[in-house]
Amino acid sequence: MVNEILSTGFTNHDMLQKEMISLQRAFRKGGSDMTAKAKFTSIFVLRCFFLFSFSFLLMMSISGKHRNEEEFSAPGLCNSQESAGVPIAVIGALIDGTGAEPVPEAVVVIKGRYITAVGPRKEIEIPENARVFSFPRGTLLPGFINAHVHSKYDEKRLQLWAREGVTTVRDLAEAMGVPWFTLRDQLRSNPKNARIVAAGPVFTCPDGFFKEFSLIVVSPEDAQEKVNKLIDAGADVIKIGMNSPIFPELSLEIVKAIVETAHSRGKPVAAHVISAHGMGVAVEAGVDDINHRAPIGEKSKELIQQTKAAGIYWIPTLEPRLPAPPGKGRPGRRRKAIDSFKYFLSLGGSVALGSDSGTLPGVQIGMPIKEILLMQEAGMTPMQIIEASTRHAARVCRLENEIGTLQAGKCADLLVVEGNPLEDLNTLTKTRLVIHDGVVIREE
Ligand SMILES: [Zn+2]
Repeated sequence: MVNEILSTGFTNHDMLQKEMISLQRAFRKGGSDMTAKAKFTSIFVLRCFFLFSFSFLLMMSISGKHRNEEEFSAPGLCNSQESAGVPIAVIGALIDGTGAEPVPEAVVVIKGRYITAVGPRKEIEIPENARVFSFPRGTLLPGFINAHVHSKYDEKRLQLWAREGVTTVRDLAEAMGVPWFTLRDQLRSNPKNARIVAAGPVFTCPDGFFKEFSLIVVSPEDAQEKVNKLIDAGADVIKIGMNSPIFPELSLEIVKAIVETAHSRGKPVAAHVISAHGMGVAVEAGVDDINHRAPIGEKSKELIQQTKAAGIYWIPTLEPRLPAPPGKGRPGRRRKAIDSFKYFLSLGGSVALGSDSGTLPGVQIGMPIKEILLMQEAGMTPMQIIEASTRHAARVCRLENEIGTLQAGKCADLLVVEGNPLEDLNTLTKTRLVIHDGVVIREE
């Protein structure tokens, strides 16, 4: 097993050592914010990662010992080292993320890192020693999930998201050589950081994507081997970059090999597409979600129908396609993006929130309210948008059993906003309380 990790094609032994050094530097930089216990755990985890391939199992057993509610489990996900000493009860109107009707006066009870009870105020017993938060004009929502970001694995960014109630982000590409999955695990130990779901780099053909992010594959066999190695290293999702007609593109044969290998390991495949051709290949190969857009037109319409029929999620990333300042950019890009997305919606397609924030200038980090308002402009109802940002985004991350809804047994990720987002989505920016991994990280 150790040899397997050390022989990983794109992380040879030298690179592992470099990763360790850069990681240690990162730890030193963030040292003042970390408790001695967290520091010890980080180093412990690091050593385990490089010395024993079963470090993950070790982490599970450690976090298991701290669990207050033994019957609930989400191994490796709710692994913050902090934990609420006393139960928490949050009272207010409830939108639980399942799509159910809101409950006007409800309570969510949290013990340790887990939700233990949810329901109408009259039906739920609040533990005597609970810390009670009451919001007579507030709405309780699941922690939001942005299924397409570029976090840079940077604590500042992760804390901006978490503070605004986006408690999970799916990072869809960071440069080669970054110790993606080690950083992900280390950053997860602090509940002030949004939890990262990580793709690592982008699978592409030679010259098919931005060089620094590219994990190049040249044949189905090569693809199979590299997908397996990336998953062995810890990838949560495999990302492919389809960039025709601007760059060369992966063949259908290779994309099929990527998808089959990832699926055989229980991991989804996310596709970056910008044209009907790339979308066609991705959809035919059976990817799990498409990101960005296809231009509208008869061929695209057919593809959008196939996308819907195959149950593939669409992550529209409308915000980066806001109109360019006068005289700059191509006119009508945003219109086209919204038109093709509208057509998908008219067919009843499944949508998850994703704003592509983190790379393009001006795209919001935090609550992606511009993206949310554009989804509304495209015809989604506030309730559909909330579901896209919670349970659907959790499904895209393959974490629907752990996060995305306010239900007993789920990780305690909760956002309270002032007002009713079903009446005005802008209330999503009026944060009153954020709980992540059972820890109150913001209180207004
Ligand atoms: Zn992106």
